Amino acid sequence: MDTLDLFREQTRQWLLANAPKSMLVPPSSVDELCWGGRKTTYPPDVTRWLDVMAERGWTAPTWPKPYGGGGLTKAEAKVLTQEMAKLRLRQPLVGCGLTMIGPLLLQEGSEDLKRTHLPPIVHGRVRWCQGYSEPGAGSDLAGLQTRAVLDGDDYVITGQKIWTSYADKADWMFILVRTDPDARKQQGITFLLMDMDSPGVSVKPIRLISGSSPFCETFLDHVRVPRSQVVGRVNGGWAMAKALLGHERTMIADFFKDRMPGNPLLKLARRYLSGSETRIADPIVRDRITQVDMDQACLELTLKRSQDGMKAGHKPGPETSIFKYYGTETNMRRRELMLSIAGPQALGWEGAGFNEHELTLTRDWLRSRGNSIEGGTSEVQLNIIAKRVLGLPD
Ligand SMILES: Cc1cc2nc3c(=O)[nH]c(=O)nc-3n(C[C@H](O)[C@H](O)[C@H](O)COP(=O)(O)OP(=O)(O)OC[C@H]3O[C@@H](n4cnc5c(N)ncnc54)[C@H](O)[C@@H]3O)c2cc1C
Repeated sequence: MDTLDLFREQTRQWLLANAPKSMLVPPSSVDELCWGGRKTTYPPDVTRWLDVMAERGWTAPTWPKPYGGGGLTKAEAKVLTQEMAKLRLRQPLVGCGLTMIGPLLLQEGSEDLKRTHLPPIVHGRVRWCQGYSEPGAGSDLAGLQTRAVLDGDDYVITGQKIWTSYADKADWMFILVRTDPDARKQQGITFLLMDMDSPGVSVKPIRLISGSSPFCETFLDHVRVPRSQVVGRVNGGWAMAKALLGHERTMIADFFKDRMPGNPLLKLARRYLSGSETRIADPIVRDRITQVDMDQACLELTLKRSQDGMKAGHKPGPETSIFKYYGTETNMRRRELMLSIAGPQALGWEGAGFNEHELTLTRDWLRSRGNSIEGGTSEVQLNIIAKRVLGLPD
């Protein structure tokens, strides 16, 4: 048996011995996953699963051991992912600590920042949120106006962020602030790490069309942040912001990459379209289902290729806009198709005429409308692809 086979066998045995039985069932929604943090209490099995995996560093398998990670090679991490998938095991921890700020700190952070912030992410002790967008700065992110003025050893921040996902549940925020109002707009921005419990931070949830409130307005009134929490250089935050967006866009596409287990489109068609118990009777629906499935397979393979490149040291670049665009547009198409297949049964909000699954179809479709906006809109991704990937003129 070669070393990797041995690792596979040991990993499988260890997972079977340590995973609580309830973690062997896929979650019915993202809210059942563990996002970590001090402000949320999770069921005992979820916490136990997080703790045993974090102890081995397997919540962040490829991060170096000195920062709490698993120190696995690319090949070992792939084996771990495969064995977890075979057992249908849940991720022990999710969130932008692992997928956004963690990778940025590994790439660009000082040794002090890495040692301070990475281990609490691995152990799920700290949950992060992203303070980029402002009421007047979304697509034109470099136009942000939140000010930070140096006072002794602290930056004093005043302004407002908006659409901050889960700010009400987060412990820390990575935030873009304007530190030089006289410089060209991209050159006066600094990337800071801010404790959400600092005096002067207040958060107000925003209610969405889907009925939930996943994001918030965040108000900052003379919030003091030590200058030691600058990532990269003062006034050099734009480069950090873009590097992080590369990780964010890959993460968003990654979220939609897996073909859902058991092809739910087929299941829906069999259930709601008469005469489709074996072969789907309607050729147009058959075509649309096959197209979504093929597009999904293409995305999955392309992302795998890019992830292999990243593990080999390639930094994510403008090509991540392709993943974000393709992943989210495919997901939106899939949700639309689910809606057309289930017909009026997927247009319920509440009441006895709809079962729970049907109500989820409606809400998931409404939530998917935000996919073409979050992490940069589809139009903005197309602009980036045109200019920076294809090299087309302005
Ligand atoms: C679900 C969700 C979660 C989010 N979470 C966060 C978060 O955690 N933290 C955070 O900071 N932000 C978050 N956002 C905000 C998101 O990043 C912004 O909404 C997005 O960047 C668009 O900005 P805007 O809403 O100001 O729209 P605008 O920039 O005002 O755009 C309005 C319209 O104009 C189009 N447009 C703008 N400029 C151009 C152009 N140059 N060329 C072509 N078309 C253009 C856009 O595509 C869009 O259709 C989230 C958004 C959503 C939907």
